[in-house]
Amino acid sequence: MRILKFGGTSVGSEDAIRRVLKLIALKREEGRIQVVVSAFGGVTNTLLQMVEDASAGNQAYREQLKAIEDRHIDIVRKLIGVKQQSTVLTELKVLLNELDDVLHGVSLTHELTDRTRDFVLGFGERLSAYILSKALASSGIEAEYIDARELIKTNDDFGNARVLVPTTYENIRERLKESEFVGIVTGYISSTVTGETTTLGRGGSDYTASLIGAALDAEAIEIWTDVEGIMTADPRKVGRYLPIGRLSYEEAMELSHFGAEVIYPPTIHPAMEQAIPIYIKNTFKPEARGTVITQEVQDDKSSVKGISSIDNITLITLKGSGMVGVSGFAARIFSALADAGVNIIMITQASSEHTVCFAVLPDEAPLAMRALEHHFKRELEEGIIDEIKEEPDCSIVAAVGEGMKRTPGISGRFFRSLGRNGINVRAIAQGSSERNISIVVQEDDLAKTLNTIHDAFFLSEIKSVNLFLIGIGLIGSKLLDLFEKQADLLFEKHNIELKLCGIANSRYYKIREEGMPFTGWPDRLEEEGEPMSLQQFLKEADRLNLPNSLFIDCTASEEVSDFYPEVMKANFSLVTANKKANSGTLKRYQELQELALEHNVMYLYETNVGAGLPVVKTLKEQVLAGDEITKIEGVLSGTLSYIFNTYDGKTPFSQVVRNALEKGYTEPDPREDLNGRDVARKLLILAREAGIEVEMGDLTVQNLVPEPAREADSVEDFFEKLAEFDDEFRQQYDRAASQGHRLCYIARYEQGDATVALEEIDSGHPFSGLSGSDNIIAFHTKHYRDTPLVVKGPGAGAEVTAGGILADILRISNVPSFSNKIV
Ligand code: ADP
Ligand code: ASP
Ligand code: MG
Repeated sequence: MRILKFGGTSVGSEDAIRRVLKLIALKREEGRIQVVVSAFGGVTNTLLQMVEDASAGNQAYREQLKAIEDRHIDIVRKLIGVKQQSTVLTELKVLLNELDDVLHGVSLTHELTDRTRDFVLGFGERLSAYILSKALASSGIEAEYIDARELIKTNDDFGNARVLVPTTYENIRERLKESEFVGIVTGYISSTVTGETTTLGRGGSDYTASLIGAALDAEAIEIWTDVEGIMTADPRKVGRYLPIGRLSYEEAMELSHFGAEVIYPPTIHPAMEQAIPIYIKNTFKPEARGTVITQEVQDDKSSVKGISSIDNITLITLKGSGMVGVSGFAARIFSALADAGVNIIMITQASSEHTVCFAVLPDEAPLAMRALEHHFKRELEEGIIDEIKEEPDCSIVAAVGEGMKRTPGISGRFFRSLGRNGINVRAIAQGSSERNISIVVQEDDLAKTLNTIHDAFFLSEIKSVNLFLIGIGLIGSKLLDLFEKQADLLFEKHNIELKLCGIANSRYYKIREEGMPFTGWPDRLEEEGEPMSLQQFLKEADRLNLPNSLFIDCTASEEVSDFYPEVMKANFSLVTANKKANSGTLKRYQELQELALEHNVMYLYETNVGAGLPVVKTLKEQVLAGDEITKIEGVLSGTLSYIFNTYDGKTPFSQVVRNALEKGYTEPDPREDLNGRDVARKLLILAREAGIEVEMGDLTVQNLVPEPAREADSVEDFFEKLAEFDDEFRQQYDRAASQGHRLCYIARYEQGDATVALEEIDSGHPFSGLSGSDNIIAFHTKHYRDTPLVVKGPGAGAEVTAGGILADILRISNVPSFSNKIV
C-alpha cells in the first residue's frame, strides 16, 4: 500500500487535476493506494478571508463564495462525464449551501469562534476530495470519497488540533486496511470525539497522509507538490537552489520546523515511527528524482543539507548582571512563557549569562512581554534585570544537516561567509544535536543571508552537468541506458547531477531546460520533437545559458563533426565518439584543439580509438609528462583482430569473414572493415596526438579487399569474388606458419612512417597472444624503451564505447568550471 498526497498546488487547475488523475491511474496499476487531497490551490486562504470578512460584517464574502462555486462547478463540467454531472453538481450545491448558511450566520452575529473558523476552512478539502473521487470514478477507477473527520480524531484545540493517535489509527485501519478501492481522503480536516470539525494546522494535509500511512503500515508516503523535492533553500527566496536527494527524518523535521513549507512538520513523526519512507515528488515533472526521507543517514560529504528560514519573528532579550550565577533563571523564563501560552522558537544564552534571548512569533510577542514584565517585576525594580527588550522584524535562518556533527569547520565557513557579506548576526544557536545552526538576522537581511549561506555551502558541492546529445543509434542508446543506471550513484556519492537538456537524431530534436528522462527515446523524440536542424539545436541550447554545458556526438556524421567549431565557439565542451573531425584535415584537427583552448572548453574523444580502452588518454598523458613517442603499434580493429585470430588456414578466408558478418562483428558490408580505412583513421589520430603533423594522404594503407572484389555490386557478389582469393590468403598463412609466425593486421607509426598492413609476427611479439576481437596498442617511448606501454582489451562494442563516453563526461565534470557560461 502506498499513500499519495496531492497538495493544493497539484489540484489548482483542470490541467493539473488531469495530471493527478493520470498519476493515480498509473500508480493504481502498480498496487494498492490511498489518496489524500488538499483543497484546490488558494481555496483555504479564500475561505479564511471570507469568514473573517463575514464576521466583520463585510459582505464581500458573497462574491468570493460565488467565485469558489464557479471554480468548482467549472472543474466538474470539464472533468466529469455528462451523465454523472448532475448528481455531482447537486451534491456540490448541498455543500455550498451549507457553507453559505454558516457564513451568513457569522455575518449576522458578528461572532467568529475558532470552532466555526475550522468548520468553514474544512469545506475546501470536502469539495476537492469529493470532486476528485467522482472524476476518478468517471474515468473507470473504483474510487470512494472519504471524509477524514470520520477517521482522524483530535482534541478540541481548534485551528491546530492534537491527534488522538490510537483511536485515529484504529478508525483508519477499520475503514481502509482491506479496501481494494482507491480512497480519496480529505486532507487537513479531522474532528473531536463529539464530532465537531477541527483542522490539523495550515498545510496539514501532509500530516493526514502520514497518519494514514502509519496506520496502514504503508510501504511509502508520497507527497506530490509543485517542486522537485525539498530544495537546499526555499526556491522563492534564493536565486539558486538544488534538490536534496535524501534526508533523514530528523533533518527533514529541522528543515520544516524552520520554515521549509514544502512539508508540514508534524508529518514526519508518524512516518518515522514506522520507518516509512516519505517521497517528495513534483506532479508536473514526475520523472524528476525528488527527495526521499528515510531513517538512514547518508554518510556523504555534504555536511549541510539545506537551509530554511522563518521570515518574521520577534527577538526578546533579557539583560542584567544580576542574572549571572543565579540558578533557575532560565527555568523561570520558560515557565512564565509557557503559562502565557507562548511558543519559543529558538533560545540562546550567552555563556556569561548576562543575557538570555529567544525568538517568538510576532503575534505572541506582546503576550510574552507582558508575562515577563509581570513575572520579573521585582527583579526589574531592583535592577537585577536591566531591561527586557523586544526587537521586531527579525528572521531566523537555520542550516541543517546530520553530517555537521562530524565535520569541523562548518560554523567557521558559515560565519565567515556572513562576515564577508557584511551581515550582522543578532543571535546564534546551535542545536545540541549539532544538526542545526540557527541565527537571527534583521528581516531586511534575510534574502542576502540565505543566498550567502547557500552559495558558501552548495555551489561548490553539487554540480549539474547539462548534456546535449546528438545521435541515439546503437551507441547513443547504450549511453542513455548507462546514464539511467549511474545517475543516482553519481548524484549521491559524487555530487554530479547528469541532466539531459537536449537530445537529437538526424530527424528531430528536443530541448528542455529542466532536463528530461533518459529512457523512452527515440519514439518519444518523434512524438515530441521539432524537426532537426543543427543550427537551431545549438541556438536553443545556447539560449538556456546553463553552466557546465556539454555536447555529446554519438553519430558518425561528417555534417555533425563539421559543426564542432560552432559548438565550441558557443562555449560548450564536447565529447565525441565520432572520428570524422580528428581524422579529417590536419587544419581542422588543429583548429579544434585551439578553439577548445581559446574558449576554455574541454574537447574529449577517447572512444575514437579502442572504444572504451584508455588509449588517447594514456598517449596524451605521456606526451604531457615529457615522454617522447618513438613508435606506436596497434591492432586497432576489433573486426580484423577477430578475423585473423580465428583464421587458421583451414576454413577458407572468405568463410571466416562470412562468419564474422553473421556474428555481427563486421559492418553490414565487410569491405568497410577490410579496406583498412577505419584503422587508418585511428592511426592518424594517434599520430596527431603524439604531436606529429600528418595527413591521411601520408599514410600507407594495405586494403585487404582484393582488387576485383572492390567493385562488386552487392555483398554477396563481394563474397564470391573474395572466395577466388581464398588460396592466396591460405598460402600467406602457411608461409607464416611454417616459420612459427602468425598474421596480424597492424597499424604502425615509426620514424615518420605511418603504415597499416597485414604482417607476419613471431611468437615473441607482444601481439602474438591476441585473441577474440581484442584491440592492443603498444607505445614505445623514451620512458618505455625496453618493454612498451601496452593497452589491451575489447576495443569495440556499443557498451564499452558508451562506458568510454561516460568516462570522458566524468573527466570533464571534475573540472571545476568547464564552460564559462554566465548563470
Ligand atoms: P502543496 O500545496 O503541494 O502542499 P506547498 O505550497 O505547501 O505545496 O509547498 C510547496 C512549496 O513549498 C513550494 O512551492 C516552495 O515554494 C515552498 N518551499 C519552501 N521551502 C522549500 C524547500 N526548502 N524546498 C522546496 N520547496 C520549498
Ligand atoms: N488546504 C490546507 C491549507 O491550505 C491544507 C493543505 O494544503 O495541506 O493549509
Ligand atoms: Mg503543503
